[in-house]
Amino acid sequence: MYTAAPYVKSPVWMQELLLSVRGRARSSLREGRAFEREFAEVLSTQYFDPDALRALQLARTKRTLMHATEHVPFYQQRFKSIGFDPRDLNHLDEIKKIPELTKRDVFDAGEAMLSRAHRGPKFSGSTSGTTGMSMKGWRDLNAINRENAFVWRQMQWAGMKLGEKRVWMRGDKIVPSSQTKPPFWRHNKGEHLLMMSSYHLSEATADAYLAEMEAYDPVMLQAYPSAVLLLARHLSSRGRRYQGRSLKSVFTSSETVTDEHRKLVRETFGVQIFDWYGSFERMSAIGTCEHERYHLISDYSYTELEDKGDGSSEVIGTSFDNMLMPWIRYRLGDALVPAPAGTRCECGRHFPVIEQIIGRVEDYILTPDGRHVVMMSNVLDYIPNLLEGQVRQDSRDEVTLLLVLAPNARLDEASVRKAVKAQLGEGMTITIRQVDSIPRTSNGKLRVVVRNL
Ligand SMILES: [Zn+2]
Repeated sequence: MYTAAPYVKSPVWMQELLLSVRGRARSSLREGRAFEREFAEVLSTQYFDPDALRALQLARTKRTLMHATEHVPFYQQRFKSIGFDPRDLNHLDEIKKIPELTKRDVFDAGEAMLSRAHRGPKFSGSTSGTTGMSMKGWRDLNAINRENAFVWRQMQWAGMKLGEKRVWMRGDKIVPSSQTKPPFWRHNKGEHLLMMSSYHLSEATADAYLAEMEAYDPVMLQAYPSAVLLLARHLSSRGRRYQGRSLKSVFTSSETVTDEHRKLVRETFGVQIFDWYGSFERMSAIGTCEHERYHLISDYSYTELEDKGDGSSEVIGTSFDNMLMPWIRYRLGDALVPAPAGTRCECGRHFPVIEQIIGRVEDYILTPDGRHVVMMSNVLDYIPNLLEGQVRQDSRDEVTLLLVLAPNARLDEASVRKAVKAQLGEGMTITIRQVDSIPRTSNGKLRVVVRNL
């Protein structure tokens, strides 16, 4: 909608009217009666004990597999070829008999991945496609309502109630890219949102964004971590704090969040970050609770953690809710570090605790001696006055750091080099470039590591 002529050519007041009308329609679809029912259910399952959670997972997994074998041609064929009958599933571990689902499978299967029994609307979505194949998938309305219920449950953990004001700063192109002067935001009264463009946010415009945000005074700031961090670093470099009175939390997803980011946001915004780590087509979700711990949300999907032998695990997910296009044993390409078995969180939920999210397994730097180095964001965290950063690898023996620093800040190149060397070892040329901004993906995300090899 944002790039269509009727929107782009309208004056700001008309754009806001269009957004509000669309917002109201979206809200009645997404937060209507079906949503309320799902929301009530997910509120009740969050304190289930481990036995009840396992029973829920088994029942939901079985329901997905039964549906797949009855209505989805791809799985009918797959299950038949290995002699697997979902009716015999008595234990979650038995799901391992089914081969993993790969991206290639999904591509090749095409329409055969969809349920023949589906009636009603279909909603499409796709991965950002920054690396490898971009993938298109379909969801039904129930999947959207369920997803929304889980997100709202976490927003409730973050102190937010339905109908309260939020600032939204994600990849929506609500302001034409040619625009160079404020307002870089639009009010969407239909969803009680102040929508701010993440594309126009920079060191030069940060003060205008903060002033508008403080005047609007939201309860929650919902944004890409990179956008929040730019504002937090901007505030920190000026020794000031955000002035809005109602803010209870910052709600992030889609990019890496580190402990250093959490600390900085607490210092400048005075609130905690609640991070939601979802996945394309909803095969797994991880979210932070009131005690700042990541939990694997085990009433959301069935997630297998495959031990890599080095303390980390890779994630294989089976969705519970999307009967239009069920995902069964899909390897997400994400890695994480689970907390030791039996770790409990003070929040009282029995969802497994995750110590660290390593992120996409493709997001590593490949050293000349063949090592895969992840978590390069650690290096960037300790560069003083850094607003944004990215580590790029375009050849085997060279990495380039793109850094955006606060105005008049001086970069201590020697110590940055030392930190990068400590991670990568000797043998790589390190190039440091100070730039005005860092290119985003087509969804407006900032990727910390880009490897073009
Ligand atoms: Zn917790």
